[in-house]
Amino acid sequence: MMEQLAVRGGAPVWREGWPAWPQPGAAADRLAAVARGDRWAVSGNWTGCQTVDAELGEAFAAFVGARYCLPVDHGSSALLAGLHALGVAPGDEVIVPGLTWVACASVVARAGAVPVLVDIDPRTMCMDPDAVEAAITPATAAILVVHLYSAMADMDALGAIAARHGLPIIEDAAQAYGAAWRGAGAGSLGAIGAFSAQQGKVLTSGEGGLFVTSDPVLRDRVEMLRGDGRRYPSETPPLGAPGLVEHSVVQGWNMHLSEFQAALLLEGLQHLPEQNLRRGAAAAVLDKSLAGDDLDPIEPHPANDVRSFYHYAIRLRGALARHPVDVVCQALSAELGYWIHPPYPPLNAHPLFDPRRLPGGTGGPDPRRFDLPVAHHEVGRTVLLHHPMLLGDEDHLAAIVAAFDKVRRLAARLPA
Ligand SMILES: *Cc1c(COP(=O)(O)O)cnc(C)c1O
Repeated sequence: MMEQLAVRGGAPVWREGWPAWPQPGAAADRLAAVARGDRWAVSGNWTGCQTVDAELGEAFAAFVGARYCLPVDHGSSALLAGLHALGVAPGDEVIVPGLTWVACASVVARAGAVPVLVDIDPRTMCMDPDAVEAAITPATAAILVVHLYSAMADMDALGAIAARHGLPIIEDAAQAYGAAWRGAGAGSLGAIGAFSAQQGKVLTSGEGGLFVTSDPVLRDRVEMLRGDGRRYPSETPPLGAPGLVEHSVVQGWNMHLSEFQAALLLEGLQHLPEQNLRRGAAAAVLDKSLAGDDLDPIEPHPANDVRSFYHYAIRLRGALARHPVDVVCQALSAELGYWIHPPYPPLNAHPLFDPRRLPGGTGGPDPRRFDLPVAHHEVGRTVLLHHPMLLGDEDHLAAIVAAFDKVRRLAARLPA
């Protein structure tokens, strides 16, 4: 019988399923311990022992290699609190990569500033330092760097540009837990690092976020921002007294993570290094097996000495690139029984972030400043595999390679 693509009714390459995500580990025990205690929130009354929030903050700062970490309710909150702490305000511009999750642009708009979208480096799919340099104006207040999928942005070049112009870097490391640049952890290289702990991320409490900095002034501001102006007392309070004290220096709002979520993240953090190693080894196998005439892997910068895989990205070329990337993704999904998809479109194509609709004085900024040809080209040929696929065994990896191989051989039969 003639071999047929699964998307056209043929037998799929793989039917055995994929590793689950999230993986709870011993989360149930930790959650039960919080449930039995008298304090479910950071703002609950003092019980005589440290909050899980504080314990998590110390452990995560050590993981990243930064001095401080404050857990918050979402990755977006870590970014927005960071912008507020840096004093970003209406009239300012913040440079953001044109290819990233929408939150990176919407937090800038929430701070009242204009997100200025810049193009990417096709090797890493992260923001192109030359494009950043060209986008700087007297209104630029910060550079929001995103490490996307599995590669870090060029922190040598971006750091030099930021220093030359006296601009702070906010590092969005939501997708780069445990990655390193010349040995320094992603999230520790800018003035501020921000991580998301939403369900799909490699460290998760369902929803959640982590703000990181080594600057005590920024740390103190964000502690008050996340607590409606309150923060932990400097001296141990009497038993049963409020766990936080008023400072009334900055307004903020309630961005606290609950003690349950902090417990989930502490558990996840125990497993993250080992899971990162497994994903890294799997990605190396895929790079070696898939790279060839029709597929281009990501080319990380040599200084990005440790990679962390949120998505394994690979780009179509040659015969495969003649089909729309969605069609190739649907064919791969059908072969493997897992949702495989292209990236989100670049933000200048997003109805909410179309530069013509952004704030910014008379008629908004000139849309020609927002051309993103490289991002559009790369998105049109990029296939993303979500990180749980990299937690399988050799058979799972062999199935991925076989699926690409089958779709490539039978590409002529893909739906138009
Ligand atoms: C997930 C993600 C965010 C947003 O985090 P939330 O926790 O959903 O607010 C921001 N930036 C990047 C790059 C992300 O992947």
